[in-house]
Amino acid sequence: MTYHSHLDPGMAARFGDALLASLAPDGGLWMPDVIPHIPASRMATLGAMSFADCAAELAAHFTDSLFDPDALRALCRDAYSYDMPMVTSAGERLDPAMPPQSDHFFLELFHGPTLAFKDFAARFMGRAASRLMQASGERRTILVATSGDTGGAIGDAFLGQDGVDVFILFPEGGVSTVQEQQLCTIGGANSNVHTLSVTGTFDDCQALVKGAFADPALSARFDLMSANSINVGRVIPQSFYYVWASLHAKAAYPERDLVISIPSGNLGNLTGGLIAQQMGAPIDRFIVAHNVNDPFVDYLVVGEYRPRPSVPTLSNAMDIGRPNNFPRILSLFDQNLEVLRRVCWGVSFDDDTTAAHLRRHYRETGYLMCPHTTVGHMGTLAFRHLHPDDATFLTVATAHPAKFADSLEKIIDETLSMPERLARAYQTEKRVTPIEPTLDALVGHLASVLE
Ligand SMILES: *Cc1c(COP(=O)(O)O)cnc(C)c1O
Repeated sequence: MTYHSHLDPGMAARFGDALLASLAPDGGLWMPDVIPHIPASRMATLGAMSFADCAAELAAHFTDSLFDPDALRALCRDAYSYDMPMVTSAGERLDPAMPPQSDHFFLELFHGPTLAFKDFAARFMGRAASRLMQASGERRTILVATSGDTGGAIGDAFLGQDGVDVFILFPEGGVSTVQEQQLCTIGGANSNVHTLSVTGTFDDCQALVKGAFADPALSARFDLMSANSINVGRVIPQSFYYVWASLHAKAAYPERDLVISIPSGNLGNLTGGLIAQQMGAPIDRFIVAHNVNDPFVDYLVVGEYRPRPSVPTLSNAMDIGRPNNFPRILSLFDQNLEVLRRVCWGVSFDDDTTAAHLRRHYRETGYLMCPHTTVGHMGTLAFRHLHPDDATFLTVATAHPAKFADSLEKIIDETLSMPERLARAYQTEKRVTPIEPTLDALVGHLASVLE
C-alpha cells in the first residue's frame, strides 16, 4: 500500500515513512491510495477470529510487506490483550449464538490500560513505530496534543521504549481531574514521557503541534513525530474494531440494518469507521454525535464548513472547533457532500441536555455512561425517533465513566468507585511543566530536556 498527501496525489510514501513523518512534506495528511476491498466471504472468516487476529489480517493490507504475518499477529495479540464487549444497558452481552435480546448495544471500547478507546490506536501505533525505529536505529520526539485521553494512551504505549521521547501537551484546566492526574503520573522521574500543561485551549495545543511540524528546521532538529490523529498510523487501527464489531452485530441480526453512533471531536474515530465501511464492513449508517463544538454537523446540514474556536463542555475530549480529520473525510468521499450525507447523519447536544439524559438513563437502567458516550447515546435515540425502521444500533462507548468522576458525581449525586489503575495514579506524585501557548516556549522546553 502506498499513501499520498491529501493535497497532492502525486506525493507518495510507504506506510513506514508516512507513520514516522506524520505529515506529508506539503503539510497534507497521508491517505491510503486505495481502501482495500475485502470480499464478503473473507469478511465472514474475519468475524470468526479473535479481535487481535482479525486486526492483524486487516493491518496487513495497510502496512506493505513491512511486517510478516506472524510478526503482525504477535504485535496485535500483544496490543489487544483486553476485552471489547457489546452490552445492553442491562449488562447483557451481544451473542450471535443467542436469540436477539435488544436492538441497542454499547460497544465498550474503554477496557484498555488507560480506559478510553484511544488505547486501540495508540497501542498498535506504538508497537509498529518502535519496531521501525529499532530496525533503522532512528530516534523520534513525539509531540501529542491531548484533549484528555490521547495523551494518556500514547504515553502508556511508548513508556520506557528506547529511541523515543514523548511530550504530552494538555490544556490547563481543560481536562477532567482524573485525566489530569493520569497524564501527570505516567512515567517516573527519569522517564521518556514528559507532560506539559499549556495555558490555553486544546485548539492552542493542537496549533502548537502543527506549528512545530510546519517548520522543517524544527522537525529535523528534534526528529519530530506526531501521535495525534493527523498521523495516519492512528487512524488505520481505528477501522479494525468497526470491522470486527459490525460482523458480530450483523451475525446476530442478519436482516437488520446496522447503524453506529460515534461521539466525535477530531473525527478520527469516525474516519476509522468510514474506512471500515469502505473495506466492506456491513455498516449502513453512522450517527456523528457532537457537543456544541459542532462545525461538522453544520457542514452536513448546511453544506458550509466553518471551523471556530472551541468552547469547554462536559465532554471535554470532544471540545474541538477545528477537527483535523475533516479533510480525510472529504477525501474518502471525493468531496461529494451528497454521498457523505447518505452515510453520515450529524447531531449535537448541549451540556444541560447531556447531564439530564445521563442522570435519567442511570436512574432508569443502572448503566452509567461517560459524558461523551451520553452524547452518542442521545444521537442514537434522536436518529431512531426520525427513522423508526428496524435496525441494530451500536453506540460507541468511548471512555470509562470513572475518568470523569468530578463531573459525574455532581450529576448523579453519588460517589464513584475508582478502577484500580486510576486509584494508583492518585497515589503517585504529579510531574508536569507549565508552558505558554507559544512555539518559543515549546521549543525552549524541548531543548532543555533533549539537548
Ligand atoms: C478522543 C475522544 C472522543 C472523540 O474522538 P475523535 O476521534 O476525536 O472524534 C470521544 N470520546 C472520548 C472519551 C475521547 O477520548
